[in-house]
Amino acid sequence: VTVAAHGVADRIHAVLAAQRTELRHVSLDIHSHPETAYEETRACATLAGLLKSHGFDVRRGVSGMETAFIADAESGSGGPRVAYVCEYDALRGLGHACGHNLIGTASAAAGIALLQALRESGVPGRVRVVGSPAEETGGGKIPLVTDGVFDDCDAALILHPDDRTMAVMWALACTHWRWSFTGRAAHAAGDPDQGINALDAFVHAYNGVSLWRQQLKDGARVHGFIEEGGTAPNIIPERTSGEFLTRARDAAYLEEMNTRFRAIFEAAASATGCVLELERGDDYRDLRSNAVLAERCGAHLDAVGLDRREVTPWDRVGSTDVGDLSYACPTLHPTVAITEEGVSCHTHEFREAAATESAHDAMLSGAAALALTGADVIAEPSFREAVRAEFTAQPWRRPDWAGSQP
Ligand SMILES: [Zn+2]
Repeated sequence: VTVAAHGVADRIHAVLAAQRTELRHVSLDIHSHPETAYEETRACATLAGLLKSHGFDVRRGVSGMETAFIADAESGSGGPRVAYVCEYDALRGLGHACGHNLIGTASAAAGIALLQALRESGVPGRVRVVGSPAEETGGGKIPLVTDGVFDDCDAALILHPDDRTMAVMWALACTHWRWSFTGRAAHAAGDPDQGINALDAFVHAYNGVSLWRQQLKDGARVHGFIEEGGTAPNIIPERTSGEFLTRARDAAYLEEMNTRFRAIFEAAASATGCVLELERGDDYRDLRSNAVLAERCGAHLDAVGLDRREVTPWDRVGSTDVGDLSYACPTLHPTVAITEEGVSCHTHEFREAAATESAHDAMLSGAAALALTGADVIAEPSFREAVRAEFTAQPWRRPDWAGSQP
C-alpha cells in the first residue's frame, strides 16, 4: 500500500496550503519575541496552542522542563508512530539568528498535516510532536531521550534552515565549559606586587588553546569568550570568567580533547597563582542520520521543488542535541535553504532571512517533505522495516528503543 494510493500526499499539500497564513503568523510571532534557553514560555505556549487547536493532546512541562511539551494524536486506533521535533530557543544576544522559529513551526506543521491527511484517508497512524527547549545551549533533547520519549517512535524528523538544502546534515560532538579564574585585587600602580592577576591567567589559557589548535585532528574545534575581564584599569583584575566549547567528530576524540583542555586551564592557574573553577556543562553527541530515511526524504525534498545539493560530509558543521536524539531513535535532520549560499547562521543576515516570505515558502516545502516521509513510515510497512533494520544494526544505538510495535 503506497502513500500515493491513499491520496495522503495530496492531502498533506492541501492542509499546508490551507494553513499557510496561520503557520507563518506563528513563526513570525516566535521570531519577533526571541527567548533563550529554558525561557521560551511564549513560543512553547504558541506552538502547544496551535497543536491543541488541531486535535493534539498536549502535555506541557515534561521531563522536568517548563518549556518542553509532548503533543500526541492518532488518526485511527493505534498504528505506527512518527515524531516531529520542535525547537524554538533564540541565541543569546542575536535573536533568532539560527531560525528556530522556522524549525518549531515546520515540525508542528508537518505533524498537523500528516495527522489530518491520515484521518481523511482512513490510514491508522500516530503522530507525536515534541517541543524541545534549549537547543543552542542546555540540550533539552537529552532529558527527553533519557525519559524514553522516542523509544516508541518509528522515526524522528526535524529540519533546519540553512544556506543549502540537503537531506543529510553532520554535526560535531560538543562539550560546554564554564570557567573562572580568581586572583587578588591590588592597586595596579602602587602595589602591583600584591596582586594576583586573573586576566593574565586567562591570557595564558587562551594562548595555550591557540597553540594547541594547530595539533588538533581535522574538524576539531575549540572556541570561547571572556565575560568578566576586570573592573577598572587601575585595579589588578581579581576575577575573570567566560565559556568555551570543545568539539570533535566523535565522542572518543572529544574526551581526549577535554583532558587536554582542562590541563591547559589548570596550567594557567598554576602559572599565575590564581584559583581555577572549571565547570563541565552539557555534552552533545555527534549526529548519525538514518540512511534509509535520508534517501526517501531526499526524494521528497526534490519532489516539493527544493534545490537540493550534493553533500560533502563535515562541510561547515556545528553541533546539535539532535545528535543525542539520533542515538536514541531512527532520525533525520535535513536542511532547507532560506538564503543565498554562503550566508551562515548565527549572523545578523541569517536572523533577517529567517523572517522573510521566501523563508516561509521554504519552511512549508520542508514541512511537506517531513510529512511525506512520515507518511511513508506509517503507511509503507517495507519502508518502515528498512528504517528499523538500519537502526537496530548499529551497536551504538540506545538499547531501550523498540519503535511502535515491539
Ligand atoms: Zn544555532
